[in-house]
Order: sequence, then C-alpha cells, then structure tokens
Amino acid sequence: MARDVDLNKVARQHLEMESFFTGFAVKGSRDTTSCVSADQGACASAEQSASQPKQAGLDPAEAARSLEALAGEVRQCRLCDLGSSRTHAVPGEGNPRARIMFVGEAPGADEDAQGRPFVGRAGQLLDKIIIACGLKRDEVFIGNILKCRPPENRDPRPDEIINCLPYLQRQIEAINPDVIVALGGHAAKTLLNTVKPIGHLRGQFHEYYSGIGRPPIKLMATFHPAYLLRNYSEENRRYVWEDMKKVLAELGLPIPERGKS
Ligand code: URA
Repeated sequence: MARDVDLNKVARQHLEMESFFTGFAVKGSRDTTSCVSADQGACASAEQSASQPKQAGLDPAEAARSLEALAGEVRQCRLCDLGSSRTHAVPGEGNPRARIMFVGEAPGADEDAQGRPFVGRAGQLLDKIIIACGLKRDEVFIGNILKCRPPENRDPRPDEIINCLPYLQRQIEAINPDVIVALGGHAAKTLLNTVKPIGHLRGQFHEYYSGIGRPPIKLMATFHPAYLLRNYSEENRRYVWEDMKKVLAELGLPIPERGKS
C-alpha cells in the first residue's frame, strides 16, 4: 500500500519535472513559439543565433575537422582502464561554432551504448532545457569531462580526469564558445579547479582559462539534469532556469517566457 502511494508520488513528480521546462516561448516571436515541443526542430532563435560567427577561434570548417580528428583519437584512446570497459567512447557532439558548450560529467549506460552524449533520461531533460531556452540541440555543443563510462556510473577518478581532460580542453579551444555551462559539481569543479560545492558555484559567472594569452571564457555552473531528476523540487528547477536565463542574457539572446507569444 505504502509502495503504491510512493509510486504515485514519484510518477507525479516526474511528470511535473517533464512539464517544467516545456511551454516557454519568446514573446512576439512566431519562430520560437514553435520551439516548445521537443520533437520540433525548427526553433531558430529570434534575434541572434546561438551558433553565430564569433570574433576569434578557428574557422568553422577547420574547427569541424579538428573536432572530428579529436573524436577519432578519443575512440582509439586507451590511456586508462575505461578504454577497455567501455562499449563506445563518447567524444561529444554539436555545432563547431556553438556559442554555448554544455559539459557534463561522464557517459552513462545509454551514452555508452550509443556513443553519443546525453541521450538517456538526463539527456532528455537537457534537451528540454535547451528547447526552453529557444535553442536547438544542434546549435550547441555537448561534451563531458570523461569520454568513457565509469563502471556502475561511479564518480570519475582523479587519474581518469587527468588523462581525459586534455580532450575537452582541445574541444573548448577549437569551438571557442562564448559561454560554457558546467552541468553539476564534477564538471564545475574540474573546469574551475576548485573544491567548492556546486551549491556555491552555481548561479554566477566564473572564468575558464583556456590558455596563456587567450581571454577567459565565461562559465556558468548549474545543477546536473540527473541531479534534478533525483531532487525534483520546484526550487531546484527554478535555480536551473534562473542560471540559463543569465546565460541567454549574457549572449544577448531573447529570454523565453512561459505561455507567452
Ligand atoms: N550524464 C553526463 O554527465 N553525461 C552524459 O553524457 C550523460 C549523462
């Protein structure tokens, strides 16, 4: 009996979670009004694209070639034991000239099976967040700190991070995004080289240094979608939405509102 009640509660909370990031639209924009459903691809942002040319960085064809070559290296990588336990390496995917780069922790079972980042439940929620922002998945780039799944989804180990991080650093260098969104504590702490908890890091811009002589890249830390799925409070969902609104404002992109058109 008690179990039935719990299951109902879980189902309701998951439905709430599913619906929280849907129904957003940019005021007065017909284009973005059509963005509210995850299966509609045609939701280019109204005023400015999330994959517009940037002043600095590789030219798009060169960036694409560089990312492809890097993905090839990742697929061959045997620098740590995860190279032998994985089904597929997950190099990351997206637009070589993305203005926003999402960085998660490590592939899970679904990602390991498909060789693509964020394709499981957390990925479906990330897709909803991207769409709620008035963006398309193929306008952004999505990667991870680790490119291979740790067994049983355990936390990344320091030696694995040390071996794998250069791949991500090279991806960031090739794409040169305007904003990095670090999803969860592992991504934020690794990229910012800090031990501060995600609760302290989220909600404000930090600076990611990609190399001497290069200007820092703005980094917004926010909760990982998998954390949201486990801790589905209204408050946590709002935190993530507030963080993403700051990212859109920083990029000069329109901020969608719920149920407005
Ligand atoms: N969680 C992550 O951090 N990355 C993925 O690719 C999927 C789930």
